[in-house]
Amino acid sequence: MSCSYADGLSRYEDKGICGLPEVHDPEEKITLKAIQLAQWIQESEHVVVHTGAGISTSAGIPDFRGPKGVWTLEQKGEKPQINISFSSAIPTKTHMALVEFMKLGLIHFVVSQNVDGLHLRSGLPQDKFCELHGNMFLDKCKQCQRLFIRSQASVSVGQKCTDQPCPLRKTNGRVCRGKLYDTILDWEDELPEEDLELADVHSRVADLSICLGTTLQIVPSGSLPLLTKKNGGRMVICNLQPTKCDHFADLIIHDYVDNFIEKLAMHLGVSIPPYCPEQDPTLKTKSSVMEYSPLRLLPKHKLVHSNKMRKRKCKRDDQKCKSEIEYQRTKHELPNTKVEKNTQYSNETQENIQTDLETENTT
Ligand SMILES: [Zn+2]
Repeated sequence: MSCSYADGLSRYEDKGICGLPEVHDPEEKITLKAIQLAQWIQESEHVVVHTGAGISTSAGIPDFRGPKGVWTLEQKGEKPQINISFSSAIPTKTHMALVEFMKLGLIHFVVSQNVDGLHLRSGLPQDKFCELHGNMFLDKCKQCQRLFIRSQASVSVGQKCTDQPCPLRKTNGRVCRGKLYDTILDWEDELPEEDLELADVHSRVADLSICLGTTLQIVPSGSLPLLTKKNGGRMVICNLQPTKCDHFADLIIHDYVDNFIEKLAMHLGVSIPPYCPEQDPTLKTKSSVMEYSPLRLLPKHKLVHSNKMRKRKCKRDDQKCKSEIEYQRTKHELPNTKVEKNTQYSNETQENIQTDLETENTT
């Protein structure tokens, strides 16, 4: 559960702004916004969805900074009332809608900050999402670097050793001698490199980023949708509380995510499938663990188009944009280049993007 997850992390004071009052749009306004977003989705070529704890609250997993969030209550010396175990939670209407949107080609990639494993359990194709803060249902072998699916949520957090031996049998018949570790990041841990790179490239390539149930306070996760905006794309936020990036958004929806997604699905002519245990890979692992090896490719062919968009947008002046294109090319088009480390990336990048966007807004 979120509490044991939060309790397992090391002490950290700067948890962002917690407990801001929630805002609820009137029903007719929500309908108009759903119609608008449905139109934008249909017009867009590359849609990325960024998800946070707010999409799992209806599964019984408390968020962190909402009025009843784990950290909001922690400040009052309280604990959430509703808090089920990660293993008993099941994917919500929003998780299942995303599976169907992906299947129909309406969205193209999901970037999640959630550790609850509900995207994996919803049956979302494993090559179509990345998880920046880990997954309670994935363990990693430090020796062979492979990931394995668990049948029950991890009991440890902070990338600790589970004492389970790696189940990998090599082609020569020998077993891997490594041990499995949980994949849940602690505050100061670096983000998984491959996931961060995928999130970064998809956000840059996107012409529409939709943020669901996140206050976008954690960096770098919270700054990724701004890359879409900076590249001339649109940014949409659906969250009950105000977020750090509201002033950059093209559309803000204040509603329960499930409620809004249901309306959106209706206007897209999509029916949301129920959660299907047969599609849940954690239930296929019975007594042992199963290898998790998605082949996730960077959408490099789309980068060319993305650069063209940026060039058009940057015609006005400016050296800064040109150097951005150069940076992008160096970073993603040459083989074996990696995203800069999380620590360098974090605050500095978000501040740079925000400053750039603010400058553009005033010119
Ligand atoms: Zn191994």
